[in-house]
Amino acid sequence: MSLEKQESGAKLPAGIAVCGGAESELASRVHSQPPHAYRTPFARDTARVLHARAFRRLAGKTQVFTRLPAEGLSDHFRSRLTHTLEVTQISRTVAAALGLNAELAEALALSHDIGHPPFGHAGEKALDRALRTHDLSFDHNLHALRIVTWFEERYPGFRGLNLTLAVREGIVKHSRDYSFADHPELAEYFLDEFPPLEAQLIDLADEIAYLTADLDDGLDSGILALDQAREASPLFRQLHDVALARYPKAAGKLVVYETLRRVLNAFVSDMIGEVHARVNAIGATTLTEVRRAPQRLAALSTPMEGERLAIKKFLYASLYNSPGQEHEHERAEEVVAQLFAILMADPGLMPEDHQAQIPTEGLARTVADYIAGMTDRYIVQLWERCGGR
Ligand code: MG
Repeated sequence: MSLEKQESGAKLPAGIAVCGGAESELASRVHSQPPHAYRTPFARDTARVLHARAFRRLAGKTQVFTRLPAEGLSDHFRSRLTHTLEVTQISRTVAAALGLNAELAEALALSHDIGHPPFGHAGEKALDRALRTHDLSFDHNLHALRIVTWFEERYPGFRGLNLTLAVREGIVKHSRDYSFADHPELAEYFLDEFPPLEAQLIDLADEIAYLTADLDDGLDSGILALDQAREASPLFRQLHDVALARYPKAAGKLVVYETLRRVLNAFVSDMIGEVHARVNAIGATTLTEVRRAPQRLAALSTPMEGERLAIKKFLYASLYNSPGQEHEHERAEEVVAQLFAILMADPGLMPEDHQAQIPTEGLARTVADYIAGMTDRYIVQLWERCGGR
């Protein structure tokens, strides 16, 4: 495919991008603040997320390798922080190539994982299971919204980061839709419409970033074998052959890097082309038309969607849920479940600012909020201090 040639420089109609001017509704804040002399509202939001404590804690949260810190973790595998930076790089590139608001895409990419609890998906599963026994549930998008609107305390005048409406909407809706019937508290976020493309693209940028990164970390750690990857993914095989032919004398590791670079580029270029195709297909020229389109417009083409699914299936079977990892997941789930029970039984073990939330949020939600904010290292330390074993 000559997608790169075909699409280079082609921008979407200007009316589709979210307007970043201080006067636009989507740039409005709950607590009004005067415009900045030389920074746009979304550039300010990017800075607010970057300077948030929850953002810094991403460095201590695992993405895939759920191994407990005591067992040693290679220093160059991705954390949620480095994953977030990779998603940000991809999101900015795609937004700029499409003529969308790259500053908004950057703010959304930086915040897309801040609601994740410790221990990756194992931690999320355990926290959700614990909350279900109290008729509640855990959702990382909604938790991210709680972090930016309440838990972050950085300003004397209000709680939260006071982010713009567009960033709050994107944090909630970038990866899925919520109904008013189930979530009346989210009414201000245009629940019967899709989010702008700047938010829609985050979910795919996230997938592209972690699928290629996890192939990299998986091959590097030796958990995945090169032959397995070649067999599982026709795209990987094809581009690995191209890289081998181009650099026949290069070290195997460098040929793999070259392959993964081409895989990532192929997904990103395909996504840019597919967004164009879908926007053209409905003749959209405004943000409202994107919001009211029959389906989300940020997507991969059918063949590349097949490639994405093949890589994902392979990683689930051979990496995320591989025999060694299952044991780690189980231990991580145990730590979360035990600490949840310990704190439910003795809420006085929580810091005072968390205890102060109990009257309004209820004990179970307060305990979950406290646990969700922890890094992998902190939760293990606290669990051990509380007698967990
Ligand atoms: Mg992510």
